[in-house]
Amino acid sequence: MSGMPVSESLLRARRLTSRVEPMTTVDRKQLTREILLGFWKVHILHHAAEHPVVGQWVLSELRRHGYDISPGTLYPLLKRMERNGWLRCEVEAGAGPRGRRYVRVDAARRARSGAGHRGRG
Ligand SMILES: [Zn+2]
Repeated sequence: MSGMPVSESLLRARRLTSRVEPMTTVDRKQLTREILLGFWKVHILHHAAEHPVVGQWVLSELRRHGYDISPGTLYPLLKRMERNGWLRCEVEAGAGPRGRRYVRVDAARRARSGAGHRGRG
């Protein structure tokens, strides 16, 4: 048999098994955070389709659902969603952060095109 040396095949086996190494605590925390961020985004989009939302309202709404998200996480998240074109920000002059209302872009479009069909709930 002219196979590879034992040490070589051991190295190979090690490389293969290292792909399925158990997740570290850091990996797990990172994954949890990504999933939560995804959940929060979907949830924000859900509400922003029903009515314009302000950051403070989103914070208390997510808290109501049991997620203690900080403003330092939420506001950049809203900004990213705006940059991605999912939310549109309507700024009320002189109202501070409360004047920054976010509405889901596709819902805003629907509302505009359906402006003559109000009253169907
Ligand atoms: Zn909710």
